[in-house]
Amino acid sequence: MTVHDSNLMETIIRCKQEKGIYIIAHYYQRDEIQDIADFIGDSYAMAVNARNSDSNIILVAGVDFMAESAAILCPGKTILSPEPAATCPMANSIKTEDILRFKEEHPDGLVVSYVNTPAEVKAYSDICCTSSNAEKILSLLPAERPIFFIPDQNLAGNVSSKLARSVTAFPSSCPIHAALTREEIIKKKQDHPEAALLVHPECDPAVVELADYVGSTAGILSYTRTSPLQEFIIATESGIRHAIWQYRPEVRLIMASDEMICPNMKSITLEKILYSIENLETVVTVPEEISKKAVLALEKMIELTSN
Ligand code: SF4
Repeated sequence: MTVHDSNLMETIIRCKQEKGIYIIAHYYQRDEIQDIADFIGDSYAMAVNARNSDSNIILVAGVDFMAESAAILCPGKTILSPEPAATCPMANSIKTEDILRFKEEHPDGLVVSYVNTPAEVKAYSDICCTSSNAEKILSLLPAERPIFFIPDQNLAGNVSSKLARSVTAFPSSCPIHAALTREEIIKKKQDHPEAALLVHPECDPAVVELADYVGSTAGILSYTRTSPLQEFIIATESGIRHAIWQYRPEVRLIMASDEMICPNMKSITLEKILYSIENLETVVTVPEEISKKAVLALEKMIELTSN
């Protein structure tokens, strides 16, 4: 870390304390941003934490749908985004028309929307899920109802095959996770035979099949905390290594691919966070008519998974 970064971090910490701003960050954020955050989590934990926070101003260091979820769950609070252009190509690939078409063809169908979706899409969904609770959510839905699982076909495939439940998946995926190939993983495993392979369920099912553990970022983190092993191959975005090393600084972490870096997540910088908290910009809002519907899908997820 540079002197410039540590000065910026000190200024951010002082400024957020003076203004009572609470910073929540995703595990895929840059190391230095994780270090100044009040809370670090996956998208599920971020949503719940924003809702439960006492602070009236919350800065979300993550992509746009994460800030939108916080705005939906925290009416009356000010939600700040340090970089409104940070978005998710997979989330943006699904449109409300895709949902309306499914509902027309399946009037008794249920739409399960991965939290990686725009607010408008959530408003047309029956329930949200994240990678940490998708399996539980799907298992709780009535077996006779057709399911449209949007927008990640890999998460849909991995979860539905585990539960032996067929779903209609929207044909999209995360470009960072979906780019990982089975051949790359086989080679990594051959090069590091002692390492456990930890895979995020946004990866292709052919990659997931090879895993020693499959789970969300929070699940992967928890696995590494309790495992007696000293070496892990990580098949998710590179930012998670910082969070793992906070608890297990001695372990060796081998990235499944050097390409697993999300440019949108990494577009948020300390400079942008400082500007955001000094100027209280950019405030994220969701139109009330969308928010009132989208909150039902998010609250339904929290209700089903909080016990
Ligand atoms: S890692 Fe993938 S799913 Fe997450 S924000 Fe980046 S592109 Fe979207």
